[in-house]
Amino acid sequence: YLTLADFDPELAEAVLREERRQEDHVELIASENYASPLVMAIQNSVFTNKYAEGYPGKRYYSGCEHVDVAERLAIERVKALFDCDYANVQPHAGAQANAAVFLALINPGDTVMGMNLAQGGHLTHGNPSNFSGRHYKIVPYGLDPETGLIDYDEMERIALETRPKMLIGGFSAYSRHKDWARMRSIADKVGAIFWVDMAHVAGLVAASEYPDPLPHAHVVTSTTHKTLRGPRGGIILAKGQGEDFYKKLNSAVFPGIQGGPLMHVIAAKAVAFKEALAPEFKTYQRRVVTNARAMASVLQQRGYRIVSGGTDNHLMLIDLSTKPYTGKDADAALSDAYITANKNSVPNDPRSPFVTSGLRIGTPAVTTRGFGVAECEQLAGWLCDVLDGVEAGGSALTAVRDQVREHVVDLCRRHPVY
Ligand code: PLP
Repeated sequence: YLTLADFDPELAEAVLREERRQEDHVELIASENYASPLVMAIQNSVFTNKYAEGYPGKRYYSGCEHVDVAERLAIERVKALFDCDYANVQPHAGAQANAAVFLALINPGDTVMGMNLAQGGHLTHGNPSNFSGRHYKIVPYGLDPETGLIDYDEMERIALETRPKMLIGGFSAYSRHKDWARMRSIADKVGAIFWVDMAHVAGLVAASEYPDPLPHAHVVTSTTHKTLRGPRGGIILAKGQGEDFYKKLNSAVFPGIQGGPLMHVIAAKAVAFKEALAPEFKTYQRRVVTNARAMASVLQQRGYRIVSGGTDNHLMLIDLSTKPYTGKDADAALSDAYITANKNSVPNDPRSPFVTSGLRIGTPAVTTRGFGVAECEQLAGWLCDVLDGVEAGGSALTAVRDQVREHVVDLCRRHPVY
């Protein structure tokens, strides 16, 4: 075989440049992480060639005995990790896991209550542009505008009024603990299914650093590539719901919304779950939370407002709504300084989702590359320097951006990713 560089130099160059970017830039996107070399290596295995429609022991194709081993290992390990009795490891991504829950448990046109995207929810929790918002009647819940915290009394009031068939817990941009027991009691009052999408905090949950939704929810979904630090993918979990319920979920994934599972990715999930069962993973997740707190406190000392007043998990949302610049301006300036974050709407944001008045940052990736509290405090200081520079504008911004970029590259080179 030719090497990629010989066969496709343009693509090989893009990979090389991406490797360089990941090594030299600080990654603060809260949903990203660096998979281990083993997780990456097994995705490059012969499992990629195998069709395996169905489930272990019940496939529609022959020759599945070895991929069955991989899928069984992934299932058993993730069940041990989250102490549950049902797992489906086939969803290609988080969005597919979520689509399967809708398909399995409710009917098109049913009323569903999910967290407003503009206030921290996810597209698949009922946004009008997503299948969830197009095929179901969505009633959103959100935050108390004063405190930036979830308003459970208001959630309960809306639920009693609209009587949803399903209540969705989980979020993409909320920095506090969610009260799963309270949400389950609201769901029970109206006879709704309680589903938690723990994509963002799954790693923290596995390490007991965030409240565990499994004892409360009828069903839990997650991605495997955020705090959980595995390959890109999705999972569905449940505990104590019985075989009929689990059959519905399995049939919704296959043949409901997917064909052949990605066996190379499922094998990589098995590797990642084994990594997550090791004691070091707990230490890592604890550091993710400590690092996030350290960054939040520097930002607050420098006068930047954090939505909800701080963080209890791996992320925070910086509210720039009183500033003379937008989330998009902040994102672009930080990017020029080799700090990758993402613009994000803040509650009641007057600006469009393409512009926004906020910035979301998170610590899973920087913690994986070995940053501790000292490095995170330093980094938060540079982030504030750049934001101050955006406000000052002109040559002040250029100077601070160039200086921060030098510091960032120097820090990154002392903490290589791979
Ligand atoms: N659920 C939540 C809470 C998310 O934050 C995300 C992704 O950001 C998803 C689901 C979707 O995951 P994927 O991008 O793998 O489809």
